[in-house]
Amino acid sequence: MNTRENYPRRAEQALSPLSAEAADTCARCGFCKIHCPTYPFGGGFETYSPRARLHFLRAYCQGREKLTPEWVDRLYRCTSCERCEAVCQTGIPLVRLWEDIRAESVRRGLGPMPAHKRVREMAEKFGNPYGEDPSRQTHWLTPEHTPAPEAETLLFGGCTGTYKMPGMLRTGVAVLSRLGFAFTYAGGEECCCASPLLRTGQVDAALSLIARNLDLFARRKTRLIITPCGGCSKTLKKDYPLYARRLGKPFDIQVMHFSELYVRLLREGGLKPSRPVDKTVTFHDPCHLGRSQGLFREPREILAAIPGLRLTEMPGNREASRCCGAGGGVKANYPQMAGDIARDRLREAEATGADCLVTMCPFCMGSFKQAIEESGSSIQLCGLEELLWASLE
Ligand code: SF4
Ligand code: SF4
Repeated sequence: MNTRENYPRRAEQALSPLSAEAADTCARCGFCKIHCPTYPFGGGFETYSPRARLHFLRAYCQGREKLTPEWVDRLYRCTSCERCEAVCQTGIPLVRLWEDIRAESVRRGLGPMPAHKRVREMAEKFGNPYGEDPSRQTHWLTPEHTPAPEAETLLFGGCTGTYKMPGMLRTGVAVLSRLGFAFTYAGGEECCCASPLLRTGQVDAALSLIARNLDLFARRKTRLIITPCGGCSKTLKKDYPLYARRLGKPFDIQVMHFSELYVRLLREGGLKPSRPVDKTVTFHDPCHLGRSQGLFREPREILAAIPGLRLTEMPGNREASRCCGAGGGVKANYPQMAGDIARDRLREAEATGADCLVTMCPFCMGSFKQAIEESGSSIQLCGLEELLWASLE
């Protein structure tokens, strides 16, 4: 039975007899353990492997185990990278199960971890997980950006792209403005997409943010949302339809990550990179862009369209891409482990001999920026948007 296909996506995030049934199909092969980026940081103990987390979950659903602070800690040491799910030969919906049991730990007052509670407090107070004053949300805009007061397409900047790593957003939107692409922007009104809360099991807090964004989309009569963020695009595509139904609000909106939009513009002929960019680059597939949304081909199609650019792949690419270490609330609560994972991935990028590590998610950018600073690496780091911009006449 392919439980990945059959296991329901539920807006309430809850364990059920189906969860135990899904876990029961585990063949105990351990492939997930070998590929999990966080397992090596559990001191070699099996209890820190996805296989063990799954067996705990099944026993918990069957009433044979109790959630303890130790198990809750292990369950939060997961970046939601989906690598385990990609390699699982029995098709177990592992990441949905991880989110469901985290939500269960929150319901029982054992989760989330302290840093995740602060994220929720900031998001509830300021509408973003960083505690930034929302009046700063438009700080990245420059005169070369041309958002219209009204348009069917709404730019969703995302909190990390807006407040922490604005270069990708600024440059990516400059490309669209140069092409005369029509879009509007709700700077000052946009809320966190709620991904940090959904990944850490804080469903009720996530709902209020989602409701605010749904109301914004309705007010703006949005037909298409575009965003530079892998995490936001995943959440808007996969979670918003479920939560909109639960909230009784409409969400009949197409969502495109910038990579999809650029490819569309390339194919239509409006986007024509022509100036050579003499660089050898390697591309990091963000987990929530690649494995979550299947967007592996799009970034490579854009890179291939830039004259003079050479792509050299890391061994871990596409489905086999390795995590940057930041997702699933890991960077917030386990910064040492997140940094170790990012530096490990950075070494893989350096080993290709590329001049530049390229990615398409501000969250991954932030991880690698820190890893480069801490390790003294000489590899350059840039968003694909910057290469595209450099190739425009
Ligand atoms: S989602 Fe990633 S980090 Fe989490 S258990 Fe699976 S492989 Fe490990
Ligand atoms: S890869 Fe799948 S079948 Fe194998 S141990 Fe992990 S969860 Fe079980």
